[in-house]
This record gives sequence, structure tokens and C-alpha cells, in this order.
Amino acid sequence: MPRAVLCLNVGSSSLKFAAYDAAAAGRPRLFGGKVEGLGGALRLLAHDAAGALVEDRKTGDAGQADAALRLVFDWMASRAEPVDLVGVGHRVVHGGGRYVDPVVVDDAVLAELERFDALAPLHQPYNLAAIRAVTGLHPALPQVACFDTAFHHTIAPVAARLPLPRAWHDRGVRRYGFHGLSYAYLARTLAGGTHGAVGRRVLAAHLGSGASLCAMVDGASLDTTMGFTALDGLMMGTRPGSLDPGVVLYLQAAGMAPAELEDLLYRRSGLLGVSGISADMRVLEASAAPEAREAIDLFVWRTVREAGGLVAAMGGLDTLVFTAGIGENSPGVRAAICERLAYAGVRLDPLANREQRESLHADDSRVKILRIPTDEERMIADETLARLAPEGAGEGA
Ligand code: ADP
Repeated sequence: MPRAVLCLNVGSSSLKFAAYDAAAAGRPRLFGGKVEGLGGALRLLAHDAAGALVEDRKTGDAGQADAALRLVFDWMASRAEPVDLVGVGHRVVHGGGRYVDPVVVDDAVLAELERFDALAPLHQPYNLAAIRAVTGLHPALPQVACFDTAFHHTIAPVAARLPLPRAWHDRGVRRYGFHGLSYAYLARTLAGGTHGAVGRRVLAAHLGSGASLCAMVDGASLDTTMGFTALDGLMMGTRPGSLDPGVVLYLQAAGMAPAELEDLLYRRSGLLGVSGISADMRVLEASAAPEAREAIDLFVWRTVREAGGLVAAMGGLDTLVFTAGIGENSPGVRAAICERLAYAGVRLDPLANREQRESLHADDSRVKILRIPTDEERMIADETLARLAPEGAGEGA
């Protein structure tokens, strides 16, 4: 029976999972998939190592993370070749100032991480619910939290501080940054050399439902667009990104309650709010409605503005990397962003872009442009195994 690590990335509406062989060289992926519909009827979709769909299972009853995990564990047990789990790794969005390295979760750690629920209401409570659900199902199975904030522990002190009275900084009100597992994966991939020399200054664009940019110098985060929470920076699927705090004060004075404000800022703004149609870039790109165009144009405009700030922070740009749902799959958005970054030496090869290749720069581009599919689950697998036991040996389930 292969010894495996299970990686979980649990959000408000879906649970993504993937298992990797803990013992074989290169830790090959064994299977993966997701459970959709959290909060309602659940649907499990699972793929084998080659990516072929091997299970499509629905439940009649509404379920949350615990029911979704039962579905995953039941399906894993029913596979022709079950795995022997050595541990479970979780993406945990907020580690605050304290957690940089992956940590084995116990009650004390869990209690500490709960303090960050309010800082990442779309993610943290769901991440932690998944940890509790696994404990309920398999109390002896070691679990490791891997943090999305961790990669940014290197950001410049000046980038971490908010211009507020210093006492608030000392109480943790500072910029942290997110999407760290994705950026760590990109940094490691670039350092691996398969893309050739990339120079010292890399701007990575993680453009998915959540979106951010990271300025990496020599493989480490110098600054990033998300801050204290994952609301800051770029316009996103349902979040506005950077917003004049005066707007929030105005809405509050106009009678909006805190819960309504949270809903507005986390779930009803961004592409969805501006278009009035959808948070899904595919839907907007296929739409003829002027509001859809306006939403895409604003997404591009905001990204270019923030990119300009980070290029300035790095003192120039050597490589631009696109990743995540939109970054990996939308030639239109990539082209619009690159066109506006021409001043920085960015020149896209239109054919390479349309064909979704890995290298997207024109021959005469001063800046290398890469499209690298991110793999946060693999990063979680590697971090979890490194944390559990240097050789991944020892603990059984
Ligand atoms: P998350 O993991 O945060 O849910 P993803 O990285 O999967 O986000 O990105 C989701 C976004 O990617 C959605 O806005 C979706 O529309 C967009 N996307 C996925 N495929 C395409 C595509 N082919 N063209 C344009 N956008 C796409």
C-alpha cells in the first residue's frame, strides 16, 4: 500500500484535495479532485494520476466540510489500491505574524489560528473547519498547517508597515500578504532552472478568483499587493481590491451594518459587482454586454497600476509570470496587461500567447514572460512531509 500525504485546500464553497506518494522519488501525484457545493448537496469529482475522471459521486443531503471529508475518505477507502496516509496537509490562509513555518496542529495551535478568522472570513474558518473534521474522522492522523502568509515573511519592513499609529502595528495590524503557497511554488520552479535565466526581479501575477501580485527579488518576496487581509490590492472576482477607506466610512455612516459591509466587500464587489453579471472571467469574456467589458477593463487597469508600483519597488523588471485561473487561461487579459506594460520592456508574442505556451515573450522583449500553472497542493505536500518527518516515515494513520 503506498504511503501518501493528503493535501486539502478548503474554501467556502469547495474542497480541493490531492494525494502524493510520500515514499517514491519525486513524490508523484496519486490522485486528486474536489468536492463542490459545500453548504448544499455535495458532489465529489476525482481524477487519477493522469488526470482522467474516475469518480463523480453526489449526495442528496446538504453538507459542510465534515460531510465533504467523509465523502473523500470513503471514496479513498473504496479505491482498488487504498493508500496508507502518513498525514494531512492543509492550506491555511492566515498565519499572522507568528506562523512562518508549517506547523503540526494541536488544540493550542488551532485556538491561536481561530483568532485570524475575522481577517480572512472567506477562507480561515473553512480551513480550520477542515482540520477539525479530519480530527473527528481520524484523531491520530497528524495534520500540518501550511500558511499562505508565510512566503511573504521576507517583505521589506517598510512594505509591512501601515501608516497608522505604531501601537496598532505592534498589535499585528500590518501587511502580511497572501497566495504565498502559489508564489513559493513559482519561486521554486524558477529556481529549478527549466525556464532558463530569469534575472533578479520577477513580478508574479496570481490572477484567479482571488488575485494578487508579488514582487520577488532573488526568489524572495519584497512586496505584494494583498496586505492585512486578502481584500487589498487587485480587483478580484467578488472583492474590490484597494479601496479608499473613506468609502467604507461613508457606507457605515449611511447605515450599513458591519455584516453587510463584509458581504459587500468579500462577496458582491469586483468583477461580479461591476459587471452585474458574473464573477467568472470566462462568462464576462463571452458576454457582449458593455458592463462585462467595463469590468474586464477595470480588472486590467487595476492590475497594471499595481504592477507599476511593484516594478518601481524592485527598480525594474526582468521576468513577468502569469498563473492561476485567469493568468493561465486568458490570452485576452494577458495581452491587455502586457500591452500596458510595454514601457517596462514587456513585449508579448501574440501567437505564443494565443497558443497558451510556457514562454510568451517576443524575441525582442526585454522582459521574459512566462505562463506557469501553479500547484499549491504540491507545495503543501512537500511542506507537510518535510515538517512531519525528514524522511516522511514514522507516523501511520
Ligand atoms: P480559485 O482557485 O481562487 O477558485 P482559480 O485560480 O481557479 O481560482 O481561478 C478562477 C478564475 O479563473 C475564474 O474567474 C475563472 O473565470 C477564470 N478562468 C478559468 N479558466 C478560464 C479561461 N479559460 N479563460 C478565462 N478565465 C478563466
